[in-house]
Amino acid sequence: MYANIIIDISHEKVDRTFQYRIPKPLEGQIRAGVQVRVPFGAGNRLRTGYVVEVTDRTEWAPEQIKDVAGVVTGSVTAESQLIQLAWWMKEYYGSTMNQALKTVLPVKQSVRRREDRVLVCRLSREELREAAEEAGRKKYRARERLLRAFLDNPRIPYGVAVRQMHLAAGVIKPLLEKGVLALESQQIWRDPVLSMEKLGNGGDGAGGPETGAPLTLNPEQRAVAADFCRRYDAGDRQTCLLYGVTGSGKTEVYMELIRHVLAQGRQAIVLIPEIALTYQTVLRFYRNFGSRVAVVNSRLSAGERYDQFERARSGEAGVMIGPRSALFTPFSNLGLIILDEEHETAYKSELSPRYHARETAQKLAELTGAALVLGSATPSLEAYSRAMAGRYRLYRLTKRARPGSRMARVTVADLRKELREGNKSIFSRALQEAMEEQLGQGNQVMLFLNRRGYANFMSCRSCGQALKCPHCDVTLTLHKNGSLVCHYCGYQARPPKKCPSCGSPYIAGFGAGTQKIEELVRNMFPASRVLRMDLDTTSKKGGHEEILAAFADGEADILVGTQMIVKGHDFPRVTLVGVLAADLSLYSADFRCGERTFQLLTQAAGRAGRDEAAGQVIIQTYSPEHYSIVCAASQDYEAFYRQEMAYRQVLHYPPACGLLSVLVSSREEAVLNEAVNALYGWVAGLERAGRIELIGPAEAPVYKVNDIYRKNLYLKQEKYDILIKIKDELEARSGQASWFSHVMMQYDLA
Ligand code: ADP
Ligand code: ZN
Ligand code: ZN
Repeated sequence: MYANIIIDISHEKVDRTFQYRIPKPLEGQIRAGVQVRVPFGAGNRLRTGYVVEVTDRTEWAPEQIKDVAGVVTGSVTAESQLIQLAWWMKEYYGSTMNQALKTVLPVKQSVRRREDRVLVCRLSREELREAAEEAGRKKYRARERLLRAFLDNPRIPYGVAVRQMHLAAGVIKPLLEKGVLALESQQIWRDPVLSMEKLGNGGDGAGGPETGAPLTLNPEQRAVAADFCRRYDAGDRQTCLLYGVTGSGKTEVYMELIRHVLAQGRQAIVLIPEIALTYQTVLRFYRNFGSRVAVVNSRLSAGERYDQFERARSGEAGVMIGPRSALFTPFSNLGLIILDEEHETAYKSELSPRYHARETAQKLAELTGAALVLGSATPSLEAYSRAMAGRYRLYRLTKRARPGSRMARVTVADLRKELREGNKSIFSRALQEAMEEQLGQGNQVMLFLNRRGYANFMSCRSCGQALKCPHCDVTLTLHKNGSLVCHYCGYQARPPKKCPSCGSPYIAGFGAGTQKIEELVRNMFPASRVLRMDLDTTSKKGGHEEILAAFADGEADILVGTQMIVKGHDFPRVTLVGVLAADLSLYSADFRCGERTFQLLTQAAGRAGRDEAAGQVIIQTYSPEHYSIVCAASQDYEAFYRQEMAYRQVLHYPPACGLLSVLVSSREEAVLNEAVNALYGWVAGLERAGRIELIGPAEAPVYKVNDIYRKNLYLKQEKYDILIKIKDELEARSGQASWFSHVMMQYDLA
């Protein structure tokens, strides 16, 4: 047997492995993650490395390959645990070890880029003014400009000085040498999320404690925290699901749990979906844990990211906050992982390994002896069904935490009825009236267009029915060529002239963009100030933060936006939330669309009335009787869960059943068909043997992307591990096929 070993873990290329022979007596001890001593280089000096893979294959001649000298025992490092995690990810999600390692190991930047540094002025204001004047007298124009800039900004990022201010290094260097300026590395809370200016002001004007003193937990919160801590100290590491309604104070409970593990000298990772990872959220953690907090987000450069991970490794930071990838923080003694908004789709990686942070966190917790806490107001079916089965411990928070704050009143406006009664506008009369009333009282309004997973579909404006596949019970997708297609089974049909359910001719594709709505709103309420938040308006750096801050500061009366506006933001002055067309997310061609709709509507409803003013939510829809909408309106998660779970059981969708989807793509349609037919041939045999249930092959919802054709196959089987085996077999077989090098295959297991 042979071991592939990484010698220098902080090397940019973690795929630089070296192969060694495993001597017989060591065979039992060597697996991925184990630290070993190996002879290295010409002098055969012993060095420490990490085993990343054990294999029986080698490309070297026997005399060229050296033996592993020994196993390092006694201490387990974070790297060792992360490599073990990578091994598990490779197996569980079916990726290469290389891809898995690149995902879990932080990559060091060989040269620290100057841009990661900030210039700080060491002079007092008086001295600075004098120095600037002196530079002016001597006609050192550039130096004068730089010094004057420091009168307004105590800190100027090096990159800004060079690029935006066009200052040459020759201008900066003498000032550094004289000690007038100093170069410091950026610190966490000076990252793009947290502008210095805002921190200086201290207040965020929108919820959260204004002082550093922790809030006193209410009895519900206290009971959860106390029970968790008691069991934690007794060594109980069962995964917990904290199911608490919007605004019930889950975040404050997390704080208490984190405090508990920090006091024991252990560390915590808090995962928050990027979109909810705002200045406001981070500041709450900062107020509780000060400089022990580290933050990563996708806007950081690789170098900045690495610095944050270094702070964790060195023990300077004890709490890491970030999106899914923060899971791979190299803490030495991880005690707790929190996964907030556990239901969010952003926890699933779209790159290989296509890991889900929930399962991966569970594995990491197992490897490190940490506890895992999942939190949500609308738990995923996966998590809640595990809680129901007793695999997760369930904690509940049933009431809003802020004194005086209540759940909003939710009503449903039936757009079919509006049409019947002559209102052709996209605003129901109820919503128009409520907007007039709230705006008249100086309150704020949010209008939400849930386009998540939005694909073109056809529905009837009279009866609300969307056109569905007769075989799969998912909505048919309207393709550009005008045909309706089921992307699960390939069924195709021409669009009917009349609604198949009620005969109405008002049948059409669905769609109005946020821009159009902004325009309509401006016309209807000319006296109100309107802000729009969607991909277009937030694409520039910090755009997302800016719009939210402006709305929180009362710079607008109405905020129109996509799902971006409903995630975890706290706007105390919003008294009305209007959901413009709940159906948009209800009829995407995905078996999870009912769940997504319920989640979005519940989260949207959670935005209204976060403060004492009573909140009101109006959900507009063509399908008021759909259970996702009925249950969201009554804010009844359990009822929703029962109906949705029944649907998954009947139609064999996860989590009631394992699902393997195979996406095959190719530039050449003929090759694609050849590959898909071959795959189909292999799995059809499995189906006949009763081992799986098969759907497809069918064109992907978007069949042709960038001149690449794509088709899907779905395999269902109750047992996930059987599906993994089938996947491995498919991979092995297709690897031998003549078409293999002309197609891309993407596997996804759920
Ligand atoms: P969730 O994470 O469940 O949505 P948060 O933790 O954000 O809820 O709390 C919602 C609001 O209630 C916040 O403004 C928070 O400051 C406030 N809050 C939470 N717990 C308490 C408490 N025990 N006493 C007073 N206010 C609280
Ligand atoms: Zn109809
Ligand atoms: Zn179908």
